[in-house]
Amino acid sequence: AIDEATRRRVIAAVAQAMFDHVEELTALDQAIGDGDHGLNMKRGFEAVMADIDTHAAKPLPEALSGIGMALVMKVGGASGPLYGTLLMTLGKQLPAEPTRAELVSAFGAAIEAVKARGKSDFGQKTMLDVLGPVHAALRDGGDLDTTADKAADATVPLKAIRGRASFLGDRSIGHMDPGARSSALMIHAITNVLE
Ligand code: ADP
Ligand code: MG
Ligand code: MG
Repeated sequence: AIDEATRRRVIAAVAQAMFDHVEELTALDQAIGDGDHGLNMKRGFEAVMADIDTHAAKPLPEALSGIGMALVMKVGGASGPLYGTLLMTLGKQLPAEPTRAELVSAFGAAIEAVKARGKSDFGQKTMLDVLGPVHAALRDGGDLDTTADKAADATVPLKAIRGRASFLGDRSIGHMDPGARSSALMIHAITNVLE
């Protein structure tokens, strides 16, 4: 079971991954966006860490919802409401002690909620292009870390259709999507603690 100590370690690991990669995420967003993704994620996870005792003490669904709400309020960019929607939907869908099948199902619903919120879909050079393949790997027993990295790499040749990068049109081609990279970093942090 995912107990309070484990919840704390997962939250802290994800936050640390964002803190450790501010410059990389900034550089990616400077290439095809407005250069704030690193700082947006840092600001969001600083707020999460300020309340880590409260978050970790809650059962898994409430913890996810609370972290999602913090990201909506503090991240500031498009990624805040989208990651917030992902986590709040997970919180709504998951039981306190989910089976793998329940996790797969809730993750699928959370991805659909992000699509609805972002009016976006797979193949548009966004975080969804990592979340989708990771969901499939979770369902099919694939390796989450290699899947996440390959999926983030696979956003490089894509042309952005959603988000600020879409303003660049063809000039968005040849760069990794910042949200795809932050999603992959979160997956690595989570699997490091749980696997
Ligand atoms: P902003 O673009 O407002 O500055 P961020 O830089 O924090 O926000 O986040 C940008 C990331 O958000 C993109 O790299 C992309 O992965 C994701 N994103 C933006 N718009 C959408 C959307 N409509 N659907 C899914 N993901 C999106
Ligand atoms: Mg940005
Ligand atoms: Mg911005």
